[in-house]
Amino acid sequence: MDKCSFCGRTRKETKLLVAGLEGYICDNCIEQANNILLEENGATVKKTFDPVNLLKPHEIKSFLDQYVIGQDMAKKIISVAVYNHYKRLMQKAGSEEDVEIEKSNIILVGETGTGKTLLAKTVARMLHVPFTIVDATVLTEAGYVGEDIESLLTRLLQNADYDVKAAEKGIVFIDEIDKIARKGDNPSITRDVSGEGVQQGLLKLLEGSTVNVPPQGGRKHPEQKMMPVDTKNILFICGGAFEGIDRKIANRLNTQVVGFGASKNREKVDQNNLLQYIAPQDLRAYGLIPEIIGRLPVVAHLDPLDRNALRAILTEPKNALVKQYVKLFGMDDINLTFSNEALDYIVDKAVEFKLGARGLRSICETIMLDAMFEMPSDKQDEFTVSADYAACKMQRINLQILKAS
Ligand code: ADP
Repeated sequence: MDKCSFCGRTRKETKLLVAGLEGYICDNCIEQANNILLEENGATVKKTFDPVNLLKPHEIKSFLDQYVIGQDMAKKIISVAVYNHYKRLMQKAGSEEDVEIEKSNIILVGETGTGKTLLAKTVARMLHVPFTIVDATVLTEAGYVGEDIESLLTRLLQNADYDVKAAEKGIVFIDEIDKIARKGDNPSITRDVSGEGVQQGLLKLLEGSTVNVPPQGGRKHPEQKMMPVDTKNILFICGGAFEGIDRKIANRLNTQVVGFGASKNREKVDQNNLLQYIAPQDLRAYGLIPEIIGRLPVVAHLDPLDRNALRAILTEPKNALVKQYVKLFGMDDINLTFSNEALDYIVDKAVEFKLGARGLRSICETIMLDAMFEMPSDKQDEFTVSADYAACKMQRINLQILKAS
């Protein structure tokens, strides 16, 4: 019988039993061992960066591959950036060196629901430095409603248990960076002050400076004592959909459908995925100020998800949707399967609703609701979701929506 090699508890007596090469360890003993570690090394063990466990870019990418389908280029770029980030930190930790490695903040451009946040979250799973995801849309210039730019770092501080030194080596993912772009192409005429003001504020963080961070965040606690945080070593990864940027790219590539100025390379340009040609000047045309672009030297794109990718997302990642439902039903001793046709049907609907990967989840929830409600009380121990079953459930919901309107 499987039991913990440290305390002897059986699998039934523990919440979790982790298998090793020659034995097992239970959740209780893991916790105790962790406490011993903490006591031995002071409270810093959990968050400090550990060069011994430094994963190579290949290994980082393999880790990402387990959770994110496709997006090879973005994965490669992130793997290298994270690896170099660690190397920079190692350099800082060591003796004085003459060559200083500069940090390479990253900007990810891709349609919504293609995996930008997922990539950032997956990186976070693997990291030994504090990490946080923040949304650029909540930012305002000081004095307006919303959050001040400094509050971006509040969450990072919180994730580092208010250890400023650890936070100063962390990684921040700023989502929806495109929403603070200046509106309009011509900066001198259509000056969108608020967007540009926020960009200027952000610049301060990206460049590296000491900012006073409200440890509780927001403006609700005016009495709180600010904590100074140096952002010089914080790696920033920005993400945005940049809707409509394909037209700017097309302009630059001179591949408009209308017009006679066809370039020689015209045939080679993949019109269905113009994002792959993205360059810093397109971001500028979109409304990011040149100083910000200069501070985000690594530009990566995410590919749109085609049918094959959507199908793979349903079944392949480590925590794929289908695997999650199988697990949920398994806990009630029900053996759940999806027919291939049912999976194709779900993908069809996601494509039809133009929701990308984001839609897969809500479609699955709609299809599975009745079964999840009824089956735990039924005696049945097998259940197969067929295309007909899926279509029937979807149709009923659609009809209800139609009726409601
Ligand atoms: P974005 O930040 O690009 O708008 P997200 O990363 O939030 O999109 O994706 C939304 C959801 O869609 C994720 O939670 C994930 O389940 C799924 N998803 C999107 N892209 C992928 C991908 N390439 N591989 C696996 N799952 C994905």
